[in-house]
Amino acid sequence: MRIGVYICHCGLNIAATLDVEELRRFAETLPNVVVARDIQFTCSDAGQNTIKSDIAELKLDAVVVAACSPRLHEPTFRRTITEAGLNQYMLEMANIREQCSWVHMDSPALATQKAKDLIAMAVAKASLLRPLETESVPVSRDVLVIGGGVAGISAALDLANAGLRVYLVERRPTIGGYMALLTDVFPTNDCSICVLAPKMAEVYANPMIKLMTYSEILAIEGTVGHFRVTGVTKPRYVDPTLCKGCINECSSACPVEVPNEYDFGLGKRKAIYMAIPQSVPLVACIDTNACIGCGLCAEACPADAVKYDQQAEEFKLDVGAIVVATGWQPFDASRKEEYGFGRYRDVVTTLQIERMLNAAGPTRGDIVRPSTGEIVRSVAFIQCVGSRDQTVGNPYCSRICCMASLKNAQLIKERYPDADVSIHYIDIRAGGEGYEEFYLRAQRLGINFIRGRVSSVEEGEDGLYVHYEDTLLGKTLMKRYDLVVLSTGLEANSDADVVGNLLGLSRRPDRFFEIAHPKMRPVEAHIDGVFIAGCASGPKEIQVSIAQGSAAASKAMQLLFKGEIELDPTVAFVDRDKCIGCRLCVDTCPSRAISVKDTAFVDEARCKGCGTCAAACPVDAIEMRLFSDEQILAQIRAATTVKGEYPFILGFLCNWCSYAGADLAGTSRIQYPTNIRIIRVMCAGRVDPSFVLEALRRGADGVLIAGCRIGECHYVSGNLHALQRVEVLRGLLKEIGIDPRRLKVAWCAASEGDILARRIEEFVEELKDLGPVGTELAAALPSGKV
Ligand code: SF4
Ligand code: SF4
Repeated sequence: MRIGVYICHCGLNIAATLDVEELRRFAETLPNVVVARDIQFTCSDAGQNTIKSDIAELKLDAVVVAACSPRLHEPTFRRTITEAGLNQYMLEMANIREQCSWVHMDSPALATQKAKDLIAMAVAKASLLRPLETESVPVSRDVLVIGGGVAGISAALDLANAGLRVYLVERRPTIGGYMALLTDVFPTNDCSICVLAPKMAEVYANPMIKLMTYSEILAIEGTVGHFRVTGVTKPRYVDPTLCKGCINECSSACPVEVPNEYDFGLGKRKAIYMAIPQSVPLVACIDTNACIGCGLCAEACPADAVKYDQQAEEFKLDVGAIVVATGWQPFDASRKEEYGFGRYRDVVTTLQIERMLNAAGPTRGDIVRPSTGEIVRSVAFIQCVGSRDQTVGNPYCSRICCMASLKNAQLIKERYPDADVSIHYIDIRAGGEGYEEFYLRAQRLGINFIRGRVSSVEEGEDGLYVHYEDTLLGKTLMKRYDLVVLSTGLEANSDADVVGNLLGLSRRPDRFFEIAHPKMRPVEAHIDGVFIAGCASGPKEIQVSIAQGSAAASKAMQLLFKGEIELDPTVAFVDRDKCIGCRLCVDTCPSRAISVKDTAFVDEARCKGCGTCAAACPVDAIEMRLFSDEQILAQIRAATTVKGEYPFILGFLCNWCSYAGADLAGTSRIQYPTNIRIIRVMCAGRVDPSFVLEALRRGADGVLIAGCRIGECHYVSGNLHALQRVEVLRGLLKEIGIDPRRLKVAWCAASEGDILARRIEEFVEELKDLGPVGTELAAALPSGKV
């Protein structure tokens, strides 16, 4: 191996603190180094040209650049060495600016010693680098959209209009989702179906969209670029090519009536039915649970469309990307027993009042007491039913319920100006565009706003009695109403569990699907090629769901229009001779990239390269291509060769938050002690127990493992796995006579360089109290990997 080392002055950014000439002389002495140069600005054209000519003339195999953070210029120098004919992965950087000169400005001698260690660590790793080849694979340009609500419709139309073939799979007989059932929508009070129906029709008419309603997904295999999907279209027992959508003939003949799920139980439908008048496709459906097989609908159908022998049909798709738009489900209001839903007929939910207000609904737009059919004279809305409520496991705000109740209360007041309409609320959340004005309009209409929780609803002889506190008056009161509307929250759709499990999507604690990053990647799943839109990832308004559908479509286009994708080679691989098939890695991998058939196999298109599996494997059968055990152990040994400071700390920092936080400490010139040598890993979950033990065995006084804050891991759960291992390791350390406090964890965000710096300072002080690490571990453990 022939290595060139290039030490950057970065003007005075590095050279004002570090003795660059001494670093260069030191680098020349390191094993495998054939040239070491100091350069004013290594990233300049002149600097890069120097590296390029050395590669050619000195026949370098690998390059070490000691300069700024690899998070800043690694791509630059990878390009440089590629242009000179080296494989791009034959590069290692020593971060002597952000994590050395800028954070130790007052200690130049110690900082120079630290920089020597960082260069030695980089050379040790570079000596073990291997060229890695990037593979490109062709992708299917077809996209599967799961869910035909407003987000799925938005995604499907955008994709199809851009020229991609779309399969839109919806489990119900019609697309449209909940929006198709609403009356008007806030804050403009547009008729919901009037704005949605044209979009539904557009989906049906678009030749690039294959609409598959009454269909479900059964299996999904493969990865980004080629997901192989199996599904089934359930029999409607009505031939869609013959049905004219007239529905009256067949449904009038049908003798069976059942509660209509599209009216949330308020109205009735027949066993042969059309979900809503604007259904897309406009094809009837027979409910086999209700049908008694009398044959009357078949006799009545003028188009001879009823086919009792229709069978389920399986379908298979090969798609490059998947948009998950599986929506939400309403909170089951009967779980709040104190409000009497399901017991008292005049206690209804938001969706039921939406259907009552709807001219096509069960009461043709009249607001009545279900118990008597009389028009109501007083209505109470109770907010936050199933939201912001720990007792039912839903601590989150459902975002839309305040506005929905404001809208429904306004509609009632407009239709019945004399009605007494009250909203019992905790606080009104009206944060969107035009929402505050909408709230003020409700106040002007004479709607009563009563602040405080409702404790219970009781049915009396003449109506419903609401017991509540009024926090503004400081009193507990009771009031009679004709009708009580429970403003029920949104929950994660349990019908989406199958799809979630097939794709390996993670769920947040609130059970909605987790997205890759709540701010920066709001429609990307953790699985490449899978995008999440609308309420599948949490409660949101219609306009946000539409925007997310478009955003997911645009992300899928970016991926598929290239025609091929490059697979990152810096992933995990399994040594099948070592693997014992224990499946520990399968359970650990957050990307569901590993399967075991006798031995483990890593799907490289799915693997994100976190390395958590490699740390979990009990027989070291899994290795990472760019952060191998061998390379990291070499860095540890190089760092601890001199051990020129006390206390001496080795830090393993995850690339995304803690390493970035350490860089931020540098750019912010936050000063901290020079005692730490940092090793970059992709995830805290990569830190193998053997790394910690080797560091201590080699004389490190302490080991710091730092990663993203809990709940914010770039790989979902890597930091949790790290934490579990730390607990076990601390027990082991105690057993072998090493103080477990020598192993410290720190979680921080990329923006929390100050917190990381403080943790390092604290650790230095703690270790001073503990004294130097003993020699007992060196005596107790054999050399090398544990
Ligand atoms: S953890 Fe290691 S030994 Fe167990 S199945 Fe995975 S690769 Fe094989
Ligand atoms: S645990 Fe991480 S490195 Fe291992 S296979 Fe899964 S994604 Fe890849």
